[in-house]
Amino acid sequence: MSSNPEGTSARSLPALENESESTTAATAPTTTTSTTSTAVANANAGGSAVARTTDAGHNAATIVCRFCQCKVFLAGVASHVALTDPISLPLMLQPKDSPTVIESLEASFWRLGNQMDFENVTVARNMPGTTFKYLACGACEIGPFGYFDNAVQPHQFFVAVGRVQEHQP
Ligand SMILES: [Zn+2]
Repeated sequence: MSSNPEGTSARSLPALENESESTTAATAPTTTTSTTSTAVANANAGGSAVARTTDAGHNAATIVCRFCQCKVFLAGVASHVALTDPISLPLMLQPKDSPTVIESLEASFWRLGNQMDFENVTVARNMPGTTFKYLACGACEIGPFGYFDNAVQPHQFFVAVGRVQEHQP
């Protein structure tokens, strides 16, 4: 369910499935950890609920930060993947009075094969006990909205569908 901050072994990259070419939209996970309060969950809601893809499985719209509307990556540069083993990421907005980091499980991701495919992104701190690094908005630096495994070459970058938004023209 949640990551182990004291863990010593790196998690392997979760297996992927559903690298589909279908036009069926995948629903983003709504699972949260049991310690997540309704108020915190509401504050962290607001990302895209559905991954809209092209016939080729790429993102149909430009993806933006849901806090500052900065462009994260343009339409067509990412592929949608659904992890068979959801990954736990810290919530983007943590309650001020919480003694622990609250996380939620994410399974629906946009995958990018090159950091140069991002319009704006910041590589943030390491995920404790792993070789994973967090990704955050390159403008407002609120995150994490995704991750990559620094031990895997070439890098593959994963952005949680539910933590970003489609650009609204
Ligand atoms: Zn931002």
